[in-house]
Amino acid sequence: MKTIAIIGGGLSGLVSAIRLSRLDFPVLLFEKKEYPYHKVCGEYLSNEVLNFMKREELLPKHYDFPQINKFQVSALNGQSLTMALDLGGFGISRFVLDEFLAKEARMTGTKILENTSIINVEFGNNQFKLETSTNEVYQADLVIGAYGKNGVLDKKLERNHLNYEAPFIGVKHHIKTDFPRDTVALHNFEGGYCGIVAIENDQFNLCYLGRREDLKNAGSVEEMEAQVLKVNPFLKSIFDNAEFVYEKPVVINAFSFRPKALIENHILMSGDTAGLITPLCGNGMAMAIHSAKILSDTIAEYACSEQWDRQRLEMAYKQRWDATFKRRLWVGRKTQSFFGSKWSSNAALSVMKSSPWLANKIMKNTHGKPF
Ligand SMILES: Cc1cc2nc3c(=O)[nH]c(=O)nc-3n(C[C@H](O)[C@H](O)[C@H](O)COP(=O)(O)OP(=O)(O)OC[C@H]3O[C@@H](n4cnc5c(N)ncnc54)[C@H](O)[C@@H]3O)c2cc1C
Repeated sequence: MKTIAIIGGGLSGLVSAIRLSRLDFPVLLFEKKEYPYHKVCGEYLSNEVLNFMKREELLPKHYDFPQINKFQVSALNGQSLTMALDLGGFGISRFVLDEFLAKEARMTGTKILENTSIINVEFGNNQFKLETSTNEVYQADLVIGAYGKNGVLDKKLERNHLNYEAPFIGVKHHIKTDFPRDTVALHNFEGGYCGIVAIENDQFNLCYLGRREDLKNAGSVEEMEAQVLKVNPFLKSIFDNAEFVYEKPVVINAFSFRPKALIENHILMSGDTAGLITPLCGNGMAMAIHSAKILSDTIAEYACSEQWDRQRLEMAYKQRWDATFKRRLWVGRKTQSFFGSKWSSNAALSVMKSSPWLANKIMKNTHGKPF
């Protein structure tokens, strides 16, 4: 069996690890942090992955996850629209989900090296050499890049998207508040939007995508929230009436939604490392899980026999990934541009209010089909 190294133990890395270990591939997963830990994410998981997750036993059973079937969106001028979600989803923290999947991966035979960052990958003689930040070297036949939005490896691999600006930041709080537990809301502010959704343990996720520039100008997250987010009356009310569960939010800096190459130096990219969808227009968690399914199916199909052909595997993966995600990422980038400013988000909301057909069409484009 081919040895598989996975760089990054978020959703895409862990789901690939579990599925490939179940098929008896030797899998080594490198994760730079230690489970469980908090991660910037809106933590709304679309039902497009529900059947798959249940079928493959990838969801913790002892929680009653809030079921989300309504969507509320608001503009800076205080207009809002609430509509039923056609597919819906559920709220689940990454603290709980990633830890559960890491346990499952270990049980299926994956060797997980936590607190281990991969800083370089070289390919030669049909083999990979992976170097850790503590100078250890590992070998593998196949490497999956599942290290998220950005990382040191992107620089090492000189990936093309790094030639463009990375203007976004993400911030996540967990809060306790009085908000409907069946609703996911997205409230716009100048330069970004903030989501709120119920998760386990009577808590809510409050997470936003904003501009790096605004954080720099404001000087701190708290100041930016006061100056920029609270201009929207819905956000003012949420922030002013919330009990913040953790002293500080989790923050990620400097990322973009530029297209990325799916395969770099024979490393098979998956999840956000292959392409990041804007949170407004898509469900990155569901896409990370789905891309792990596609990749692990392709590896199982093309890398089982001794006469395997790397080029055929790579071509098959690219074809399947493009067919599933390429259009969705493109639509996401276009839709995002309507919600970047006060003017455009006010206008977009007026149009959506006057045309429920259009509003439903936009919503349908934010998720894929259940699989
Ligand atoms: C503000 C915001 C809100 C969002 N809200 C939602 C939402 O509500 N619903 C939704 O579906 N999606 C949402 N997303 C998107 C979603 O969070 C991502 O698409 C998803 O986490 C991608 O999973 P992944 O496995 O590809 O990467 P990640 O979950 O980021 O995992 C990557 C892992 O790799 C590790 N790593 C990084 N570099 C290295 C290295 N060199 N060596 C070893 N390990 C490494 C990291 O520690 C991390 O654990 C949101 C994104 C943002 C920015």
